[in-house]
Amino acid sequence: MEKNNRNNLAQDNKNNIVRVVIQRPLYKLLDYCFASQSNVNGKQGLLPQTGCRVRVPLGNSVITAIVVEMPIESEFEKLKSIIEVLDDKPLFDSSMMALLNWASRYYCYPIGEVFFHALPSTLRKGKPLPKTLLWKASKQGQASAEGELKRAPKQLAFLQRLKLGESTESQLRDDFSTNWRNTLRELKNKGLVESREVDATVAVQTVLTSIPEKGNITLSDEQKSVIQSIVDSFQQKSTKPILLHGITGSGKTEVYLRSITPILEAGKQVLVLVPEIGLTPQLLFRFKEHFPKLTINALHSGLADSERVSIWQGARSGEVNIIIGTRSAVFTPMNKLGAILIDEEHDASFKQQEGFLYQGRDMAVKRANHQGIPILLGSATPSIESLENVKQGRYQYLRLTSRPGKSKPPEMALLDTRTLSLEAGISQLLMSEVRQHIEKKNQVMLFLNRRGFAPVIMCPSCGWHAVCEHCDSGMTYHAFASKVICHHCGLEEKISPKCPDCGSPKLTTQGQGTERIEQVLKTHFPKTNVIRIDRDSTSSKGSLDKKLKQVHAGDPVILIGTQMLTKGHDFPNLTLVGILDVDQALFSLDYRAQERLAQQVVQVAGRAGRGNKKGRVVLQTSQPEHPLLLSLLSKGYKQTAEQILNERGVWDYPPVGALAIIKANAESSDAAVKFLLKLNIQLSAYIEANNDLFESVNTMGPMPSPIQKRAKRYRFQYLITAKNRLQLHRLLNQAQAELSSFRRSGGVRWAIDVDPSDFL
Ligand code: ADP
Ligand code: ZN
Ligand code: ZN
Repeated sequence: MEKNNRNNLAQDNKNNIVRVVIQRPLYKLLDYCFASQSNVNGKQGLLPQTGCRVRVPLGNSVITAIVVEMPIESEFEKLKSIIEVLDDKPLFDSSMMALLNWASRYYCYPIGEVFFHALPSTLRKGKPLPKTLLWKASKQGQASAEGELKRAPKQLAFLQRLKLGESTESQLRDDFSTNWRNTLRELKNKGLVESREVDATVAVQTVLTSIPEKGNITLSDEQKSVIQSIVDSFQQKSTKPILLHGITGSGKTEVYLRSITPILEAGKQVLVLVPEIGLTPQLLFRFKEHFPKLTINALHSGLADSERVSIWQGARSGEVNIIIGTRSAVFTPMNKLGAILIDEEHDASFKQQEGFLYQGRDMAVKRANHQGIPILLGSATPSIESLENVKQGRYQYLRLTSRPGKSKPPEMALLDTRTLSLEAGISQLLMSEVRQHIEKKNQVMLFLNRRGFAPVIMCPSCGWHAVCEHCDSGMTYHAFASKVICHHCGLEEKISPKCPDCGSPKLTTQGQGTERIEQVLKTHFPKTNVIRIDRDSTSSKGSLDKKLKQVHAGDPVILIGTQMLTKGHDFPNLTLVGILDVDQALFSLDYRAQERLAQQVVQVAGRAGRGNKKGRVVLQTSQPEHPLLLSLLSKGYKQTAEQILNERGVWDYPPVGALAIIKANAESSDAAVKFLLKLNIQLSAYIEANNDLFESVNTMGPMPSPIQKRAKRYRFQYLITAKNRLQLHRLLNQAQAELSSFRRSGGVRWAIDVDPSDFL
């Protein structure tokens, strides 16, 4: 309604003003005018509408902008005219515009950058929406008799297909594959078929072959009752988000599939957000298997720009029924969106870590709220934020406490490494357990969250060790690549067998990463397939899929991996999980380290015993009395999370209080510190002058970031906490205004991180 009014206004608007955003770090909107005839390059131009892209002059250049308003008045007298309107239909509807406006304010990020961020890159660059041809039989073709094409069976098949209805080129290609274009051309030359141009909405079919099919599943009583609750809640149009806390292996996927069925049957769309599609192709596969007739498209970083924009278009038009995507898919326009689903809602990858620092899960909750549609968040290890929302009555809470069928949650044991002899960080006890499980023809997984061979490579004669010159931190030795690599900035250097300082021919390593574990296990188990899964071993296309296929085949294997292995994998023959090193995380200074560790341990452990065989988890640690580990083992995740929540409250850290970090970095540490010191002076004065508006606010800093130097830049931060979120945002508004006005001497870069996911 509102939108229509606006569009009419565009035509009545005598002053012909359009208000736009551009892709620049500006916190304001720009006004332009348009000539009502808008005759561009001799052809009749389109009239602007809110949500459409236009081309506008700015300084000496012409840039792409997005119309966000059609105001009646402008405070400026002389307005420049827009040059061209790029879209005949808006790219953003009013609810998406409202969401992006909110995000810009909430995350303190320039409005134009937020709008452009929400678009696929080809549209950001001002390219037109892709078009495709829709083919059908012409009148002549409809009337033609089969006999006419007796000698051209392929053309006949094509024509018969097109007599039934219209078909896009990509459908024809999928159905007829070889030579389809030639066949089409021949039919066209005979006047039997004709085409018209429409928006391209290619349904890219992802073929996944590595995962065994599920067949029929009989739901457990627990699953049935949870599904019923969700379906009821969806039907009552309840907009209270639902948190589904289901232990690992409790069959959450099945619950998702059946809960959204009524929505899909009603012709509506579903948006599914997941942490990383490449790592867990299973979910996508299960959706395709369960809804074979629906169009399901995945949106992830591996897509070509053209594929992405076509899927985007298909989602917008409503042709794609289900979008499964990572973080940024939350911006996908969907005309008939009926529900949003977030799997592994606790996962850190939902938080964008550069540029526009938004939290995809939170955006999704906000989007559902704006659109008045239901949202379901699922996890075996819900985030502390979501548990707090449950506690405050903002979320509905549902549980799955058991695994369906014969599968039972694994038993967990702590191994005190202080009293044991270790080889590459593996105790003999664990090694012999690995042997027992492999001899029983089962699969084993060892988890270590460190890539490479060893975190330290050094010279025993002179004490030299490899340090990254850009970060002031140690470099990790990668034996396969014979390189040292900095895990903070990615700097790589070839390593020679000699010490670069004293020339001694013998370098030694300390500690271990996945490569070393792989090497040691291969010598202990020469006949067993040892599979390492980390970023290095899966960088080439298809290699992860190949490795997962070997595991799914079910033969005994020893899997070694980083956190890539923790996410959602379902390997029925896996009976033993060894967790090698949690000690470092126990002492991390980051306020989220304990939460992350608890989640990681529970998620890794949850890979064991998912089939009919009993699972066992061995956690090696030198801190067996650490309260977090004891709590996790004796009380489980939920109670441990509640304990963590209480501790957060002591510092007013989220989710009890609100937190933002203002970060600054520069090539000299002096410049970065001075920048934040200046901010501190201004903000302190502002708080002082408006004391009653900020009584719950605390500021800290500037202080060095935990990783103080990264990629040649010195990093400092300034923390703001507040019991009252409104007060935090009020102060951030001020901070944003101050920061934008500062001269950035010394090449300082700054960012405001609202609800940061870490302190690093
Ligand atoms: P989660 O995501 O909760 O960890 P999954 O959805 O991956 O669990 O399910 C774990 C395994 O249990 C999968 O192999 C799934 O097919 C299977 N499963 C789910 N529900 C049932 C059921 N009712 N009966 C038997 N197997 C089931
Ligand atoms: Zn040396
Ligand atoms: Zn580095």
